[in-house]
Amino acid sequence: MKKKGDGMSLIRSWVDSANRADTDFPLNNLPYGVFDDGQGARMGVAIGDFVLDLGRVDHGLDPVLLADPAWNDVMAAGPSVWAGLRARLTELLSDEGHRPAVGPHLLPLASVRMLMPFRVTEYTDFYAGKNHAVNVGTMFRGAENALPPNWLSIPIGYNGRASSVVVSGTDVVRPWGQVKAPDEAQPRFAPSARFDLELEMGAIIGQPSDGMVSVAEADQMIFGYVLLNDWSARDIQAWEYQPLGPFQAKATATTISPWIVTRAALEPFRVSTPERERPLLPYLREPGPMLYDIALEVGLAPEGKPETVIARTNYDQMYYSAAQQLAHHTTSGCAMRVGDLLGSGTISGPTKDSRGSLLELSWGGKEPLTLATGESRSFLEDGDRLILRGAAQGDGYRIGFGECAGVLRPARRLPDWAQE
Ligand code: MN
Repeated sequence: MKKKGDGMSLIRSWVDSANRADTDFPLNNLPYGVFDDGQGARMGVAIGDFVLDLGRVDHGLDPVLLADPAWNDVMAAGPSVWAGLRARLTELLSDEGHRPAVGPHLLPLASVRMLMPFRVTEYTDFYAGKNHAVNVGTMFRGAENALPPNWLSIPIGYNGRASSVVVSGTDVVRPWGQVKAPDEAQPRFAPSARFDLELEMGAIIGQPSDGMVSVAEADQMIFGYVLLNDWSARDIQAWEYQPLGPFQAKATATTISPWIVTRAALEPFRVSTPERERPLLPYLREPGPMLYDIALEVGLAPEGKPETVIARTNYDQMYYSAAQQLAHHTTSGCAMRVGDLLGSGTISGPTKDSRGSLLELSWGGKEPLTLATGESRSFLEDGDRLILRGAAQGDGYRIGFGECAGVLRPARRLPDWAQE
């Protein structure tokens, strides 16, 4: 495995807070978001404790690319525009000479609300973490049938709903759904009693395709990455998932972090996928390292109470990279569009404290977790706040993602026409 942050050190900025070793947003990062300071939605770049109001500085882009407050048009403009913007921002924020013109357009991050950074065109969620697949398969089908026969050959996934994707800070409402436990004779309609999180990374497609692409081409189509929480109703999922896979269990909400961390910022942190346990067909073979060394954690804070970190893991645990998933996605001839979002699948490590869902952490509710507050959890309770965090650690700096957070609110009252 490649060493962390090879050949890279902190690029110093005249924004002092960007030079702190613990900031998520040093000059090496330059993640892209959309913010509102009370005067309308605008495109911004995070630097230290601030967001730079991009439209107010000499960014070098065609202004039409900033007309709509979303990063889709910049993504569509292509890799040379991406590289040009990154170089320009690096110059503006490193060279002290630009401070008088740029400084007035830095707004404290604490003073703005973050909005969706891009319009999600379509959303696909994969199932590409082997530890997660083995754990869930063991619980749902038994240890002998844990890993589906196709799993070591195909990055499997399902087509999700773009409309379900929300930005960090958006409340999530506990869903109603049809459930039936194995020992029940008939299905019931009830609020999900086994509502869960899934710790994932999301890859954002920045260039379109029409027809099949190679893994190397797929990698170049990815603009950047976000943290992603694929909220999941396990009781609804267990009853509905065969034979067509997840449906309503996964359609309540998917929360993403508000900053797009670019592929360019993550370059020094590339790592290879693990050894293949079964050879892949040529179209899925990786021509180079296409995963990233990104430390991840999940925090859970009951309403009004302090947070407990319930899991720590790393994106390098995935069996398939986003580039492999994307290449596979195109084999059918399925066109990919700018703004497509690919969920990695739940990222679980090999140890109990590195599992990326409560389903695994509590082993289906059989081994409830004890939080720092003394409370126990098998699945989420109303009022729980979930926080995902992630960062690639360089030498004296880190490429952070900011928080991907959401509070679970109680189920709504059932309409009269749905009552017994
Ligand atoms: Mn998922």
